[in-house]
Amino acid sequence: MPETREFKAELKQLLHLITHSLYSNPEIFLRELISNASDAINRLKFDSLTREELLENDKDWKIRIIADKEASTLTVSDNGIGMSREEVIEHLGTIAKSGTKAFLEALQAQQESARPELIGQFGVGFYSAFMVADKVTVITRPGGAGTSGTRWESDGQGSFTIEPIDKATRGTDVVLHLKADAKEFLEEWRIRQIVKKFSDFIEHPIVMEVEKAGGKREEETLNSRKAIWLRSKNEVTTEEYHAFYRQLSLDDQDPAKVLHYKGEGKIEFRALLFIPSHRPALLDWGEPKGGLRLYIQRVLIMEKCEALLPPYLRFVTGVIDALDLPLNVSREILQQNPQLEVIQKNVVRNVLDALAAMKNTEFDKYLEFHRGLAPVLKEAFHQDWANREKVADLLLFESMNTPKGQFITLKDYVDKMPSDQEAIWYLIGETREQIENSPYLEAFRARNHDVLLLTDPIDEFAMPTLGSYKGKRLQPVDRGELPGKTDEAPPDADAYKPLLEFLKAKFEGEVGDVRLSKRLTESAAMLVADAGAMTAHLERLMARMGRQVDGPRRALELNPLHPAVVALRERHAANPQDPLVDVHARLLLDQALIAEGSKLRDPAGFAKRINTLLAATGTSGS
Ligand code: ADP
Repeated sequence: MPETREFKAELKQLLHLITHSLYSNPEIFLRELISNASDAINRLKFDSLTREELLENDKDWKIRIIADKEASTLTVSDNGIGMSREEVIEHLGTIAKSGTKAFLEALQAQQESARPELIGQFGVGFYSAFMVADKVTVITRPGGAGTSGTRWESDGQGSFTIEPIDKATRGTDVVLHLKADAKEFLEEWRIRQIVKKFSDFIEHPIVMEVEKAGGKREEETLNSRKAIWLRSKNEVTTEEYHAFYRQLSLDDQDPAKVLHYKGEGKIEFRALLFIPSHRPALLDWGEPKGGLRLYIQRVLIMEKCEALLPPYLRFVTGVIDALDLPLNVSREILQQNPQLEVIQKNVVRNVLDALAAMKNTEFDKYLEFHRGLAPVLKEAFHQDWANREKVADLLLFESMNTPKGQFITLKDYVDKMPSDQEAIWYLIGETREQIENSPYLEAFRARNHDVLLLTDPIDEFAMPTLGSYKGKRLQPVDRGELPGKTDEAPPDADAYKPLLEFLKAKFEGEVGDVRLSKRLTESAAMLVADAGAMTAHLERLMARMGRQVDGPRRALELNPLHPAVVALRERHAANPQDPLVDVHARLLLDQALIAEGSKLRDPAGFAKRINTLLAATGTSGS
């Protein structure tokens, strides 16, 4: 007679949650049962080292999946360690593992509606079978002479029955009586798909009988069993690494770098990491395609474990296989596990070191990587303060004094700084062509200070966040108080006073100030952002993002030695009412806007002004 027993209270709660809330990702039940079967085999393998009789002459380790469409049952069968009656009652009647308890608490803290999102990436163990089955039968027998079999059965509602049974072979059969809406799990293709997805790297063969040509039924191994990260480096070929990378990342090109190593010390793990050769097409589109898979002893726990990689390295793909992390913990709890932080630190260091090595020894390859992924790396400046100089050292820059197509590093720049140079100068714009002839550069050219020319939109945010490098301030040349080409006051300062007053009133609301420039040598006029004001480039970026900009305006600086400016002063002194004064002044502002790369608000008016001036010179010049 079968004996009926009640589940422990907390297990009842768990079963209730599993059957009522965690339906969004039911396929993981197979991963859980396969993982249990694999554990059972590993444990018997270990025990049999000292007690060979447990083997009963069967060392053909196997996890068998049997789909019976007529009976609507799916069986996962193993020849592992099996369970005695007492063990069945203890293991399948209570919540044995501490992780499940924590999981239960995490689940209960969640809103009802948020629960389905919680599952999928972590295990709830054996009991997940009740997501797809309305009845589960377990038939099991431990190895060795004189052991007897036990049959356990439950509908997952609160009680189970248990009775002795004859079982010929050692091990455990878990028989799921599938719910009406779970019949898909009897289909060969579906089983193959789930095994491939979650259990491909389980070391024991997962076999199923399949129909071959001619109606012959044959056993087939569904998993590749290739956990290449567990093999030693010299046993894995480059082709194998690359094939694995492509399967993992869906990238059709080979990776730039493969890092395969064993993490030892506080926590033991294997790492197999891939750095792509180029920017992955969908890097910032929806779900990131890269990221690291977290395995714990070959069991896939999370496909993209965010705790293992800071976002600025999201282009890295690969596998971390940890030896001693708690297996059955909720994603949230695992993500906060301090051991994952230790692994993350290690991964970051290894990836940054690999990039530095690539930059030094395989520059062309590095350049291609840098072209696509430097903008992502720069996010490190606000995500990873501790590593900011390490990341800064990975960046390549164009500069005023560097021929087009060549690059320098911040270190190269600092090493060449003359002793009177107080900061690392940079100018940001859309293209090198647009900024390399900018009037902002004139004073720096005159003083022989190099200026970094930046064209990546994120530089507007990344450079100020980095702030300084090796103790040298990073300073944009189109903003704030800057050194002039001389430190003397501009000549004719007094003579310019009336014109400057006139222009200030005239351009009120358009520019913040009108003043004489100490830094222009060739150009007549330019716009300068004072500290706190937005540079032209940033203003355009914000406008593109649909943001209205109203902050302090830029100042118009005039070159007092430039003939066009001198001419305006004379024209204004002769007759401030002369209509040509207006045309002339506005053209200076127009050209300052053009030089900084801004669009003229009124191009037709600009053309008209030029024509007026051309016509005027035509008559007066003859
Ligand atoms: P976990 O496997 O994480 O410990 P489960 O709820 O999946 O949690 O299983 C509870 C226990 O039941 C296991 O620890 C193990 O002792 C036992 N068990 C489950 N499946 C098997 C199996 N196929 N063979 C032997 N023992 C098993």
